[in-house]
Order: sequence, then structure tokens, then C-alpha cells
Amino acid sequence: MTRQEIIYDMLIVGGGPAGLSAAIYASRARMSVLVIEAMLSGGQIATTERLENYPGFPEGIGGAEFGQLLEAQARRFGTEMVLATVTGVSSEGEIKTVQTSNGTYRGRTLLIASGTRPRALGVPGEEEFKGRGVSYCATCDGFFYQDQEVAVVGGGDSALQEAMFLTKIASKVYIIHRRDQLRAINILRERAKANPKIEFLLDSQVRTINGTDSVESVTVYNKKLDKTREVKVSGIFLYVGLIPNTDFLDGSIKVDEYGYIITNEAMETSVAGVYAAGDIRQKSLRQVVTAVADGAIAAVSANNYLYG
Ligand code: NAP
Repeated sequence: MTRQEIIYDMLIVGGGPAGLSAAIYASRARMSVLVIEAMLSGGQIATTERLENYPGFPEGIGGAEFGQLLEAQARRFGTEMVLATVTGVSSEGEIKTVQTSNGTYRGRTLLIASGTRPRALGVPGEEEFKGRGVSYCATCDGFFYQDQEVAVVGGGDSALQEAMFLTKIASKVYIIHRRDQLRAINILRERAKANPKIEFLLDSQVRTINGTDSVESVTVYNKKLDKTREVKVSGIFLYVGLIPNTDFLDGSIKVDEYGYIITNEAMETSVAGVYAAGDIRQKSLRQVVTAVADGAIAAVSANNYLYG
């Protein structure tokens, strides 16, 4: 039988920590599982240089390596994986379907673990210089900025963590944040402030990203001083928050005002047999450790739904 002909016990959209943890639990419970992932095992974490706060790894672990380990563990118990972009789901009824760039798959339960993607800043030059100085992934693109000056935009955990990663490559890293208070947790704030290669430009907004063939500078407006200055950088890394990947959902699965899927503690959505786990859920703490827990709970709930 081809994968399109099989009716899986569980279809999982997203091969990040939530999806793969669900796959480990479900496969180990002898459910047939197909994980549909568009890019990389590990999802967003695979684009993170180091995962430092996941229990059990006192020295931390590389994000890509962590993703690969999760995949290997899921496969060991029988999980199947396909690389495809999901374009739609039909969640109502006993058999759920997922439409992808690679065909349609069917399952008796469906887990949405599609995570988030970086939000665009929306300033002139951003679109134009994407891939030519504008990046949303320091781990992927930082390498190109050896001994050059770069900027990071944002004041959250991602901005500070990635800025520190960039100091290992770049000669100087500006952190441009729109307020004078950073949103990031204390440990990251302290480390960034102690890093001699980092200069904070607070109360500051990027107005334009400038260059000819690639980025050469950013125009930054300081609200407090009511002054605009040009900062010469050859790269700008944007970490201004996340957008839930829910564009492919049908209207039956309820989301909140920001687009995050609403679940109960059993990870059940508004549709019977459909679950959500990880960053895609409406929740208070978006971390690998909570994504992994969500995935395990969703798998157990789906197993109860099918075999009660
Ligand atoms: P975030 O926490 O939502 O922070 C986004 C940052 O971008 C904020 O500082 C925000 O400013 C700024 N921002 C938003 N819109 C902007 C705009 N239009 N112009 C300029 N600045 C703008 O996003 P994140 O840092 O990507 O983190 C997302 C989640 O992942 C969080 O839950 C975080 O804890 C988690 N995470 C954890 C770790 C870790 O534990 N080590 C690492 C990375 C991410 P304001 O502060 O003014 O709102």
C-alpha cells in the first residue's frame, strides 16, 4: 500500500519537538503514525545553535542535533515521515485528511504541531534584501558575517540569544530594541550586557534597511532623543516575534485572536479527534520542554480516543 492509501492512527503536522514527541509516544503505543514536516526535523529548534535549558543536558545540546535525535527515536518505534508542505486539512468526520505538496494523507486522528514562524518587521528594504543581508536565522546565516558589523532587532529571548551567538563571528553586534526595557529573561540580559561586542540601541526603531546590492546600513530612529542616525552594518537579523503557522487550517478548529489553537489540558481542540501541541497552542510558556510535554499528552489523548 502507498502512504496515500493507508489510514494512519495519527497524522502529525509538524516535525518539531511537539510533533516528534507525540510520534514517539504514539508509535510506542503501537499506533501507526505519519509525521509531515516541511523543512527540518526539530522545526524551529533545528535553527537554534544551542539548547541550554532542556533538562538532562548540563552542557546544552545543538538544536539540529536534538532534532535529529528526536526523529531517530520516533523512527525507532515505527514512525513514518514525509517531507511536504501542508496546504490544507479536513478535520471533521471520522477520517481526517491532510493535503500537501506531495499528495493527500488520511488519519483517524490528527495532531497539529506546526509551530510558528518569524514575524516580519515590515520596513522598507526588508523584502528587497532578504537573503542579501536581511535574515531571520543567525544560526543559518551568521557564518557570512565574519569580522563584520551586524544588527539584531528585538528585545526578547530570541534576539538576545542569537545576538550572543553572532558575537562569535561578527566584530560587533548592535541590538536595536524599541523600548528601554528588554523583554528577555534575566540570565540572557545579564550575559548580553556583559558582552563587550554588543552595543544596545534602546528606545530605537529601524526605519529603513539600506544598500545597493546587499545591506550596507540601517536607519534608526531614537524616540527619546527624537534623532535619526545611520548605523553601518552588513547584516540585520530580525527577531521581532512569531506568527502561528495556521494558514492551512479549516474553519472548524478554533483559534484565539492571535491565531493560536485553543485546546484543553488533554490537548483536544474544538474538533473531536483533532489535537494541537507545542508553540501553535494558546499557552503561557513556549519552550521545548512544554512542547515535548504537550506532544506526549496529545498522543495519549489520541490513543484513548481511538482505543479508550
Ligand atoms: P517575543 O518574546 O515575542 O519578543 C519579540 C520582541 O520583538 C520583543 O522585544 C518586542 O518588543 C519586539 N517587537 C515586536 N514587534 C516589533 C516591531 N514591530 N518593531 C520592533 N520590535 C518589535 O519573541 P521571541 O524572542 O522570538 O520569543 C518567542 C518565544 O520563544 C518566547 O516565549 C521566548 O521565551 C521563547 N524563547 C526562549 C528561549 C530560551 O529560553 N532560551 C530562546 C528563544 C526564544 P517589546 O518587548 O516592546 O514587545
